[in-house]
Amino acid sequence: MKFSTEDLKEGIQSGDKRLIAKAITLVESKKSEHRLQAEDLLKQIIPFTGKSVRVGITGVPGAGKSTFIENFGRLVISKGKKVAVLAIDPSSAINKGSILGDKTRMEELAKEENAFIRPSPSSGFLGGVANTTFETMLICEAAGYDYILIETVGVGQSEVLVSDITDVFLFLKIIGGGDELQGIKRGIMEMVDVVFINKVEKDNLQKAKNTRLELKRALDFIPAKEKDWKVPVLLGSALFNEGLDEIYSKIDDFISLKKKTERFALVRKEQSEKRFEYWVQEYILNMMKRNESVEEAYIQHKKNASTLVSNPSTEAKLFVEKFLKKD
Ligand code: GDP
Repeated sequence: MKFSTEDLKEGIQSGDKRLIAKAITLVESKKSEHRLQAEDLLKQIIPFTGKSVRVGITGVPGAGKSTFIENFGRLVISKGKKVAVLAIDPSSAINKGSILGDKTRMEELAKEENAFIRPSPSSGFLGGVANTTFETMLICEAAGYDYILIETVGVGQSEVLVSDITDVFLFLKIIGGGDELQGIKRGIMEMVDVVFINKVEKDNLQKAKNTRLELKRALDFIPAKEKDWKVPVLLGSALFNEGLDEIYSKIDDFISLKKKTERFALVRKEQSEKRFEYWVQEYILNMMKRNESVEEAYIQHKKNASTLVSNPSTEAKLFVEKFLKKD
């Protein structure tokens, strides 16, 4: 990395998008010398982080996420705030293709001085990607972004990872298609704080109202995630800018409630503890693997596990005990 930590820090704090992007590339890197510099940088910027509203956004492909973010992002900017858009894309972590990133997205928002859009990291396993996104979010916060929108797609466990690093979780839904059941099955409904039924226009208003009723009924069966918060189901059109102001207010209400009940700080604390646990495992493993005989044993045990010579957890335990045994 040809930029010093000092350069990057100053770049971030002066809002220089090129240097913000460089800093993000640094925290995404797996190289150990980059990681060292990333640690140094993060340590220096941490006092300037934590002040944004962290919003997770999910929905099936085609639900209108990029359209929503394009127009909602501009609404946030019109209120005098800065917005950063990040993404966790399970498809790019799994098969290096991308559901979220392939099309040209959010062109208008991208032109805004007060917006910063970062495509999802294109490599690394999903759990690791969430950690990288967390650090990317810290960089954006230190750069003064007030709203961080983290987009994901309704596949697998990526919603869990997004809700693990955000304050409020928004579910974008389209009418019908039996997908209200899918959402419930996948557990999304247990994570959401606000639902937006998108693409509601004159000709389908009645259908949308029926969908809202079904969703509300379904939500009644789910234990409340936040006491005193009934998950609102709003109707609107991302494309025609309808209902976006209401979403903005609901997010605001939700954050205020969480702050009042002290859940805001508590949940963030728990989230940081999870990140800490991730890094403990990551660093222990990396440090151990620096020793050649440990690396060899690691490869052997991993092979045993993968070829089902024995149970994967047994192999992991045997490996760890071999090197971390108390005398
Ligand atoms: P994503 O895959 O969830 O990011 O969905 P996109 O934002 O790419 O939207 C998918 C398609 O739906 C695009 O052709 C959009 O123009 C369209 N779309 C998004 N929001 C609306 C809406 O509110 N009304 C209508 N009629 N179309 C919309």
